[in-house]
Amino acid sequence: SRQFTRPLNDLANQFNMILSAVAGAERVFQIIDEPEETKDEQEAGELHKLTGEVKFDGVDFTYEGDQQTLRDLNFHVKAGETVALVGPTGAGKTTIISLLSRFYEPTGGQILIDNLPLSSVTRESLRSQMGVVLQDSTMFHTTIRENIRYGRLDATDEEVEQAAKAAYAHDFIQQLPEGYGTWLDSDGKGVSHGQRQLLSIARAMIASPPLLILDEATSSIDTVTEMKINDALATLMEGRTSFVIAHRLNTIRSADLILVLQDGKVVEKGSHKELLAERGFYADLVKTQMAENQALS
Ligand code: ADP
Repeated sequence: SRQFTRPLNDLANQFNMILSAVAGAERVFQIIDEPEETKDEQEAGELHKLTGEVKFDGVDFTYEGDQQTLRDLNFHVKAGETVALVGPTGAGKTTIISLLSRFYEPTGGQILIDNLPLSSVTRESLRSQMGVVLQDSTMFHTTIRENIRYGRLDATDEEVEQAAKAAYAHDFIQQLPEGYGTWLDSDGKGVSHGQRQLLSIARAMIASPPLLILDEATSSIDTVTEMKINDALATLMEGRTSFVIAHRLNTIRSADLILVLQDGKVVEKGSHKELLAERGFYADLVKTQMAENQALS
């Protein structure tokens, strides 16, 4: 059922709906009314501009029933650092992101953001400081210009273009007959998969959030676009706290903190160097990936 396969895209759609709500669309009320989302505490407050320090302190989580999904998660991310979440399907990577975005509440322990309990902050003010870039980001049925502007609604046309340039999207946009005025479908028809990702990076650039969530692409994208995506992401991530659901060794290797997850538990935690020295699960993973890469080349 949908309950068990809820993909990260659902989560991103909720962010996008929140954005579109700010823009005056009505779709958001579907979200606000979602029964699974608990109401903000009465005393929950607006969040100041974050630096982006994140702490998981003994976090447990159970969806429903008695099967525990996350067990005693402890980690500390300094402002501006990159965390790579690594592990097989079902390990709990998406759940961590869902908790961080307050789509669910921990059943034990707590999450702190800039040393504030996450539960003391309204969802809206939290999510307004988070940017999400996924493999398959949603586009709205409007122009490319407005799709980028969703990141920050008071951005000028010039700022939209600057963001597009920084995201390496400007060139392909200009080559379209209608340029920034090109109309997009909600399924993004008219631009390629990779180009859609560049647009969502531009959208995140213009929002300039202190917290980023990235889901690294697993599907094949042509090499040139993939290089652009990598460069654009590197620019975007600079100075922001980033949580990356990472699949590629290169991305993982450069993370400040790697969390290796298995069955909802952090089995290894540290930098690439530290984890290699442990000669455990991660070291094996690296060996396997290198063997695969060699087989490919
Ligand atoms: P990953 O992102 O690493 O693939 P998930 O966080 O999506 O892992 O899933 C962790 C576990 O939680 C899995 O066993 C999955 O089936 C379960 N799960 C995920 N979403 C839900 C949900 N909405 N309801 C119940 N169980 C879920």
